[in-house]
Amino acid sequence: MARYTGAVCRLCRREGQKLFLKGERCYSDKCSVGIRAYAPGQHGQGRKKNSEYGLQLRAKQKARRFYGVQEGQFHHYFEIAERKTGVTGENLLRILESRLDNVVYRAGFASSRAEARQLVGHGHFEVNGHRVDIASYLLRAGDVVTVCEKSRGLDKIKAVVEANSAHPVPQWIDLNRDAFEAKVVNLPTRDQIDAPVEEQLIVEFYSK
Ligand code: SF4
Repeated sequence: MARYTGAVCRLCRREGQKLFLKGERCYSDKCSVGIRAYAPGQHGQGRKKNSEYGLQLRAKQKARRFYGVQEGQFHHYFEIAERKTGVTGENLLRILESRLDNVVYRAGFASSRAEARQLVGHGHFEVNGHRVDIASYLLRAGDVVTVCEKSRGLDKIKAVVEANSAHPVPQWIDLNRDAFEAKVVNLPTRDQIDAPVEEQLIVEFYSK
């Protein structure tokens, strides 16, 4: 699948806030949002137009970039969210949060969602005892994600788990760090999702 390969810090600068796409660097004073607090490109410091459509578009782009999802996949998630009962925007966020790469990142098995995608793609994780190498795999309540037995000794995995040991884990994930295991206790409610997303604007964007 196509994926964005450009400089990711540009994405944060375009959205005007940290999207935490680069792991530890995002928490350091090297973060580009703090150093150059304006949009990238020739007109980045020019006047901003805040039309209704512009705000909706930015909300959608920000969510896509935060979760690292391409346009087609994101729209597909929106269609699924619309068909479900409940609030569409919240359904959409819940689907995004239930992706395997997101849960790997939230559990602290990776420093960023991009790194999580790479680790999943390289076959380092199992879901309910079966290896899964699809980052977009959607987890359900009760699913258990584990680092594969033979991957637990890898320096890269050990280093990233150690580095993220102080990062908070959301309450809908039950993490057993010693067993390299994370259980999805329940899919999160909106107040359990820490994401800079204005989901109502995304619903309005796609409802035009
Ligand atoms: Fe975004 Fe992280 Fe780059 Fe800062 S360091 S601009 S938060 S990706």
